[in-house]
Amino acid sequence: MVALVIGVVSIVFQILVWSGSIIPSWDIITPIWLFFLGHILFLLVVSPLLGTYSYLIKVEALNLAERSEPPLKFLVRKLPTLMFTAITWIIPSVAIAPSPLFYLSIASASISDYDGLNPIIESYNRYMEDWKRKLRNIPRDHLTVVVSSLIGIVAFVIMNNPIGRLIAIVSCTVPIIIILSIVREVSEVWINWGLKLCPMCKTWNPLEAVYCRNCGLRFKY
Ligand SMILES: [Zn+2]
Repeated sequence: MVALVIGVVSIVFQILVWSGSIIPSWDIITPIWLFFLGHILFLLVVSPLLGTYSYLIKVEALNLAERSEPPLKFLVRKLPTLMFTAITWIIPSVAIAPSPLFYLSIASASISDYDGLNPIIESYNRYMEDWKRKLRNIPRDHLTVVVSSLIGIVAFVIMNNPIGRLIAIVSCTVPIIIILSIVREVSEVWINWGLKLCPMCKTWNPLEAVYCRNCGLRFKY
């Protein structure tokens, strides 16, 4: 369901961008401006939805449906964190090597339920710890996303006609399917990687947590 919403939002967004509807003036269209619209603004809009998708994967995987907050409530509560996370990693994630950090941060905000700087810190720690084994495919899949989007931008700029616009809309929308599959993979890895249920208050905590983030119970001695 959320995946469907993300798909529809992506298509509408890309049509708005590449048909020129939200470009203030055709005189200022440059590849950088198009990159800003198609990549940066796009991820800002879509990241909170991706976080909600990740959250729902957790709810499903851990059978939390009856005692978890509704997706919309989660989305509203997590909006600042997920947008902040997106802003932090949008530029670095164009470089392929650190690209898992973007997806890991989304998982940290949504699955570990961290806020503020903590998703950045936790994702970085997990990335440094074991990403090559656990997230080996992410840079390759993310490269496909970047290349496909670039093809769209190049087609738009070089052809400068309705066919170029159509190619741009398609090349920039299709990667959302890959992005969704990456978010699913990272979320599943994250859940297997480390969540533990606090024995005192039944709060889920990351595996490496020393204290319960809800009741403060000490896990490790
Ligand atoms: Zn607890």
